[in-house]
Amino acid sequence: MKKHVIEAPVLENVPIADGIYRMVFHAQLLAIEAQPGQFVMVMKPDDQATFLRRPFGIADADPAAGTITIIYRLVGRGTKAFAKMKQGELLSVEGPIGHGFTLREGRQLLVGGGLGIAPLIFLAKSLPEKPLFLIGGRNEKEIFWKDLLAPLAEKIYVTTDDGSFGTKGFTTTLLPDVLEKEQPAGVVTCGPTIMMKGIAGLVKESGLPCEVSLEKRMACGIGVCLGCTFETTAGTRKKVCVDGPVFPAEEVFA
Ligand SMILES: Cc1cc2nc3c(=O)[nH]c(=O)nc-3n(C[C@H](O)[C@H](O)[C@H](O)COP(=O)(O)OP(=O)(O)OC[C@H]3O[C@@H](n4cnc5c(N)ncnc54)[C@H](O)[C@@H]3O)c2cc1C
Repeated sequence: MKKHVIEAPVLENVPIADGIYRMVFHAQLLAIEAQPGQFVMVMKPDDQATFLRRPFGIADADPAAGTITIIYRLVGRGTKAFAKMKQGELLSVEGPIGHGFTLREGRQLLVGGGLGIAPLIFLAKSLPEKPLFLIGGRNEKEIFWKDLLAPLAEKIYVTTDDGSFGTKGFTTTLLPDVLEKEQPAGVVTCGPTIMMKGIAGLVKESGLPCEVSLEKRMACGIGVCLGCTFETTAGTRKKVCVDGPVFPAEEVFA
């Protein structure tokens, strides 16, 4: 699929939780072509701090309105600069990039942690059947996602490390019960690598298809710099930016 570089006017850029922002910008071509699981590389034009574009998963694409939504955490110089952008300012956006999720038939279980939940929103909207969600966070404050997911999910299971909301523990703690009770047709997971590894291992035992979305530091996003390569379980090297970020779990975790 062809990538575009667009000067996109920012329509909304607001905090939605502690240190987490939602940005909506107008980029008609991207909104029409974007697939769930793909990402965009963004920079502030003429800003040295964001000279290397930053990658963000597409949290929503609305072809009718011509808008793309990203949800981002304040991390360093780039995201702090993005958070200051006002409505009407232009963001340089490259995308849509990468290989997205498979839109499988049957009820899927989407397992997310932290900012990994953002691309699952777009996936949930695009699946033929309303999915189940299993989300995890350190505490109740980090579970603000449940309100965003409620209209898109058949049911939402929640874990927190400290037990302040939902089941105490990790998503991996609850997964076996959810698999047994809900009998989903497949599993998709996005979040910290350690979480995805645990989820993939448990799903493997059940024989269900499982996809994971990887996050690696990347500079170019077009497969040139090789900064985001990793060795698959088959011993070949793949690039997260162009071969992924979505991969079958068995290609990533033994
Ligand atoms: C495919 C993909 C999708 C992503 N989706 C999201 C998302 O939806 N929401 C979100 O909040 N974050 C997401 N990230 C992580 C996000 O790109 C980084 O948090 C962001 O680039 C940090 O930039 P910074 O300048 O604020 O931080 P700094 O630490 O100052 O960044 C310095 C450099 O490191 C790179 N970098 C830093 N952390 C990461 C990281 N985790 N992954 C890749 N490059 C990094 C930056 O691009 C930049 O070039 C995603 C990363 C990838 C690879």
